[in-house]
Amino acid sequence: MAAITLKDIVKKYGDGFPAVKGVSLDIADGEFVILVGPSGCGKSTLLRMIVGLEDITSGELKIGDEVVNDKAPRERHLAMVFQNYALYPHLTVFENIAFPLRLQKGVFTEEQIREKVEFAANTLELQEHLQRKPANLSGGQRQRVAMGRAIVREANAFLFDEPLSNLDAKLRGQMRTEIARMQRRLGTTTVYVTHDQTEAMTLGDRVAVLRKGELQQVASPRGLYEQP
Ligand code: ADP
Ligand code: ADP
Repeated sequence: MAAITLKDIVKKYGDGFPAVKGVSLDIADGEFVILVGPSGCGKSTLLRMIVGLEDITSGELKIGDEVVNDKAPRERHLAMVFQNYALYPHLTVFENIAFPLRLQKGVFTEEQIREKVEFAANTLELQEHLQRKPANLSGGQRQRVAMGRAIVREANAFLFDEPLSNLDAKLRGQMRTEIARMQRRLGTTTVYVTHDQTEAMTLGDRVAVLRKGELQQVASPRGLYEQP
């Protein structure tokens, strides 16, 4: 877990108009921040810069006390949860969750892997599905497996990019509850991108409203609601 600090972050693609125009935001250790705004306002760009998939044109990004502008994604120890799950169809739920641990060859014993996967499965109530394949799971269960993978990595932070946009309304409601509960239980710093007002108003500790590449407002959901 770690704080994430953005200072005057700018992103220009080519020589075009900047997609992100000087965003500054202090995200506290353990905080759950929602990044909301209309399509094209720069949300994905900002998230991709935090995770290290996109270069920062100017400004400073810190994870904990360390400036990470030039660090590779895997050195940042962040866990990204995508909307399309990206699960391996031929692997069981257990092996899908264990996957990031097995990638680090020789770091964890089989016993440690089992403990970590079971902890994640308990947190997400997936204990009964560990031997199933993704094809035999509901959309919500698949989303939970994707979150399980983020949990076992014991990352500095979770980053969600519109994780619920492919789900139907009922499942979205369930998953909102689930994500909020998981975050509270684990206390992991979380940045969650959405264009959905309901998600913005119900999930996080604070909401950062992005418009045309600039932060327009940062407030608690209640504070935002009470604005004129
Ligand atoms: P959002 O996630 O809020 O929909 P994006 O971060 O995807 O917004 O996009 C912000 C702006 O940057 C948009 O104008 C988009 O067209 C532009 N943009 C995004 N990615 C690229 C890219 N790889 N190359 C050029 N322009 C891009
Ligand atoms: P999303 O709904 O996830 O923001 P987009 O259709 O906006 O998806 O973008 C899909 C991909 O295309 C992203 O990887 C984004 O970086 C890239 N992209 C978006 N806008 C542009 C652009 N103007 N020029 C080049 N690539 C872009």
